[in-house]
Amino acid sequence: MRGLLIGRYQPFHKGHLEVIKSILGEVDELIIGIGSAQTSHTLENPFTAGERMTMISAVLKGNGLADRCPYIIPINDVWNNALWVRHVRSLTPRFEVAYTGNPLAKRLFAEEGIPVRTPTMFYRFKYSGTEIRKRMLDGRQWEDLVPEEAVHVIYEIGGVERIKDISKSDRITYLEPGDVSP
Ligand code: ATP
Ligand code: MG
Repeated sequence: MRGLLIGRYQPFHKGHLEVIKSILGEVDELIIGIGSAQTSHTLENPFTAGERMTMISAVLKGNGLADRCPYIIPINDVWNNALWVRHVRSLTPRFEVAYTGNPLAKRLFAEEGIPVRTPTMFYRFKYSGTEIRKRMLDGRQWEDLVPEEAVHVIYEIGGVERIKDISKSDRITYLEPGDVSP
């Protein structure tokens, strides 16, 4: 049996790795779908689909899971919920079960007759993309929450500097004496 796990993986973290290991106790093969593939260089979605794919495949290889997760597939948003499952199916090999914790995604798969399972959460407070991006932005330690292979990819692409850069604003928040009024 083949399963599908969709996430944005911004970035791929230890919670994702744990959930993949646990799903592999239930299915023979797992497809990893990279959602919102078209989006990058924003605070919510800093990494490109290609960068996320590089992180995921490095982690899978490093943990001996690449053979069981042979497909890592970027999935662009379609901004049409009624068509979304068809879109996903058009991009992926056949799968018999979808794993997602997202209530909308659950509903959409169920309406198309695809069985949905909700993955168990592992240390959700720490192992969360939002928490990791916040730590990166604040200059705090984040490396413990991310598998080492993905940490290397993030270092290589200057991921933390990117997040800090895109958080900057060119808005003038205060004037110093001598500044010319905007
Ligand atoms: P963000 O905070 O940016 O939404 P996230 O940590 O929720 O990031 P996603 O890419 O949205 O990561 O996650 C995709 C899927 O991975 C989720 O729907 C969920 O099923 C699973 N997941 C995320 N974090 C964990 C975790 N700590 N334990 C188990 N599964 C997780
Ligand atoms: Mg999420």
